[in-house]
Amino acid sequence: NITCKNIVKSYGAHPVIEGLNLEISDREFVVFLGPSGCGKSTMLRMIAGLEEVSAGHIAIGGTDVTDLPPGERGVAMVFQSYALYPHMTVADNITFGLRRQGNSRAEIAPRLKQVADLLGLTPFLERRPKNLSGGQQQRVAMARAMIKTPKVFLFDEPLSNLDAKLREKLRTEIRKIHMQLKTTTIFVTHDQLEAMTIADRIVLMRDGQIEQMGTPDEIFERPRSRFVADFIGTPA
Ligand code: ATP
Ligand code: MG
Repeated sequence: NITCKNIVKSYGAHPVIEGLNLEISDREFVVFLGPSGCGKSTMLRMIAGLEEVSAGHIAIGGTDVTDLPPGERGVAMVFQSYALYPHMTVADNITFGLRRQGNSRAEIAPRLKQVADLLGLTPFLERRPKNLSGGQQQRVAMARAMIKTPKVFLFDEPLSNLDAKLREKLRTEIRKIHMQLKTTTIFVTHDQLEAMTIADRIVLMRDGQIEQMGTPDEIFERPRSRFVADFIGTPA
């Protein structure tokens, strides 16, 4: 589980997260939803360890990780702009992190096969990233995170560079993969439709605070405020 306790983040005198408390259970698929600038990415980056908290504590699996570097938190993050290595094959892109840790290609091969099968990348393993479509490249970025078998997946708008059809397809795939692996997941989006279809639970943020939390049904049927109703009710 992930616990965020009284998290505060300020840039200079300007607070962007204002005392946020949140508890995420093991195997849960949580979506951070909210308008641009409300602090979704900032929260995610603090959980990942890519950004320091100004105050408060973050625990993952019972360990206080507030002062741990990203590599020691057991999390893997997938961004919107996936930086793949252009000169490496897809297989090498996916396995780079594990090889850097000293694992041999032979040791990694079964994991690579499993992850490539899961994401439909098996036919593309010897290609270079530039010879893949946008959706295929995004799958490579996901495979690269997945092969590390993290305790937590963190996604920051991983689909927003893709067209609507492909976005829907990958969304379904991400959900399917979650059904199989059950890895605790936080998925950031500003698209309410995406949130409604993919989340176990939605954390709706506004100005650095949680406006409402609940299952998609709960939020849809009982919006707590005009802000929630407007945000959920307006097409992206
Ligand atoms: P979007 O949907 O546009 O990605 P977001 O909810 O992810 O928005 P954040 O990126 O978390 O928003 O930003 C929250 C606030 O913090 C914004 O007002 C932003 O301008 C501010 N902010 C983010 N990073 C910095 C920084 N390095 N320095 C100063 N202000 C920052
Ligand atoms: Mg963001």
